Amino acid sequence: MSTRKKVHAFVRVRPTDDFAHEVIRYGDDNKSIDIHLKKDTRRGVVNNQQTDWSFKLDGVLHDASQDLVYETVAKDVISQALDGYNGTIMCYGQTGAGKTYTMTGATENYKHRGILPRALQQVFRMIEERPTHAITVRVSYLEIYNESLFDLLSTLPYVGPSVTPMTIVENPQGVFIKGLSVHLTSQEEDAFSLLFEGETNRIIASHTMNKNSSRSHCIFTIYVEAHSRTLSDEKYITSKINLVDLAGSERLGKSGSEGRVLKEATYINKSLSFLEQAIIALGDQKRDHIPFRQCKLTHALKDSLGGNCNMVLVTNIYGDAAQLEETLSSLRFASRMKLVTTEPAINEKYDAERMVKNLEKELVLLKQELAIHDSLANRSLVNYDPMDEIQIAEINSQVRRYLEGTLDEIDIINLRQIQEVFNQFRVVLSQQEQEVECALRRKYTFIDKNDFAAISAVQKAGLMDVDGHLVGEPDGQGFGLGVAPFSAKPGKKAKSKKTFKDQLRPSTPPSKPVAFEDFKNERGSEINRIFKENKSILNERRKRASETTQRINAIKREIDMTKEALNFQKSLREKQGEYENQGLMIIDEEEFLLILKLKDLKKQYRTEYQDLRDLRAEIQYCQHLVDQCRHRLLTEFDIWYNESFFIPEDMQVALKPGSSIRPGMIPVSRIMSLGEDDQDKFSQLQQTMLPEGPDSISFYNAKVKTEQKHKYLKTMMGLQQTQRK
Ligand code: ADP
Ligand code: MG
Repeated sequence: MSTRKKVHAFVRVRPTDDFAHEVIRYGDDNKSIDIHLKKDTRRGVVNNQQTDWSFKLDGVLHDASQDLVYETVAKDVISQALDGYNGTIMCYGQTGAGKTYTMTGATENYKHRGILPRALQQVFRMIEERPTHAITVRVSYLEIYNESLFDLLSTLPYVGPSVTPMTIVENPQGVFIKGLSVHLTSQEEDAFSLLFEGETNRIIASHTMNKNSSRSHCIFTIYVEAHSRTLSDEKYITSKINLVDLAGSERLGKSGSEGRVLKEATYINKSLSFLEQAIIALGDQKRDHIPFRQCKLTHALKDSLGGNCNMVLVTNIYGDAAQLEETLSSLRFASRMKLVTTEPAINEKYDAERMVKNLEKELVLLKQELAIHDSLANRSLVNYDPMDEIQIAEINSQVRRYLEGTLDEIDIINLRQIQEVFNQFRVVLSQQEQEVECALRRKYTFIDKNDFAAISAVQKAGLMDVDGHLVGEPDGQGFGLGVAPFSAKPGKKAKSKKTFKDQLRPSTPPSKPVAFEDFKNERGSEINRIFKENKSILNERRKRASETTQRINAIKREIDMTKEALNFQKSLREKQGEYENQGLMIIDEEEFLLILKLKDLKKQYRTEYQDLRDLRAEIQYCQHLVDQCRHRLLTEFDIWYNESFFIPEDMQVALKPGSSIRPGMIPVSRIMSLGEDDQDKFSQLQQTMLPEGPDSISFYNAKVKTEQKHKYLKTMMGLQQTQRK
């Protein structure tokens, strides 16, 4: 979670024997500075309208030791950097006010060392306190002088791409300087060496290149990267601490510079005023564009100003009255900086290599788990790998067969296969949609509903009435117009349409399943009823057959038991010695009763067995009836469907009940009574229970087929006659 946070701005006053007590006053809480000018000193100073200024800050450091400055300004920023927060500490102020003293400090005196060496010390101390993490530290030291970039550590051996000239590069991770050497440092001492090397180069360069070091900006960066020592932890954090020693902020006019110096001063002022512009923009909540790229300084600091950083500004000022003008200007900068808010956030990253390794481990484990589950569930080797083209083609074929009805079920194998089945459903569906559309287009001409010219042409031709009632497409996208293959008189046509308004077709036929439900309730209700009746008879017979089978089994068990008992009696008799009377075997009553019982059971068994055989024959026959009814229901439905949605309307007139023909197997007059006929036939069958035995099935089939064919031919002839009229 990140929350907005204001930039912390401190003022450090350079110690002086001549502190302007009259002019500079600190607030009681040491968090504000008031500047008061006497009337006479006012002359020649910045603003002759104003004599009093008050600046609110986060702290005034007066006569503060380097130690206290570090505690106040830097300690928290560094500490949070080790938790993944970027940090920026900047020193701003006129030359000689103590920026370098604050940032670097005295390199010859440990006690007076500045923020930089102290920050390095804190980083290494904190690393020691965190043995659970492998933390690496890198540093770089950049100088910006006259809009040129200099690597203050270029004198050290460095393995990495050396790009000249250096360029500022932006990527999603942030801003970095291409060509700037970044040095890994594993201990405090090495880090100090790097710092001193940089400081030395700063001084040397100012001599050899004739640079005025107070005119350059220096950015010392500490890069921290912390990985957990636990391999399974993929997350790691990174952070960047920028310690910035800015060039002197004094104005051009005052120095009276000329030539080279003028050029420098211009640059300094320019880059600092760009910095100021960026700061103003950052402080303005309404601004979404921040002009970072106007100069090297702001561009290089783009992700270190504002953004997700902890930011601290130290404004170095003189305490002397003579410097009041610059002091005022510096304090203004400080109070502007205070308006900037940042949103510190942890830079959390994922170690891709660790992540892959962990995922691989997890995958192996899950595969093993699956294998165990499969073997427990008695599923033979299921393949969980991605499917190849052949497997996908097989699924496509399964889906097609399923839709056609030739495949009852699609076995579930695994998730991947289920997903592919759905996928193939979509493929097949969209193909079918296209096919249907093609078929419709072949048959009908579609007219855009908004194309009034076309519509009126069609109306003139009498293909549609004024109300546009011919087509009732609800979505208003357009409509299909049946171009009647049979010409009909326009007047007559319009009239007939009114008559059969209820029969008006939508340009998009309803889906077959929907239409089928309608059909079963209306036109096909008789066939459907018969179909259902037959099915219930079939079910009832099946139930009886199963009951009979159970009874037969029970009788069989009793027969076996009785036989056993009888055998026992017989063996007893044999042991005791048989008793014969006049050549006749004499048996005792018990054995006699058993024999009678067995005989009776066998009789029962035969009767039941015969019943079962009859029932089976009956079931077989009923099954055929059901199949046949289903077939008939579907065929009739197809005819009705085509007739209702695809046969041109003028034809339908001829096909209406009461008319002579119907393009199906059965004349309309007959379809109205079809229920009765067939019902009679079926109930008769039910009553007589297959009088001629199962052999009659093929007979019945043949008869129906012939009838159908005959009726079909007759209908077609009728249709052709209507066409000729
Ligand atoms: P800047 O970098 O702003 O131009 P320096 O840091 O170089 O200024 O300071 C100029 C001189 O003043 C140096 O000799 C420095 O040692 C001294 N100085 C600045 N601030 C302090 C301070 N707070 N205590 C002691 N000496 C200081
Ligand atoms: Mg300096």
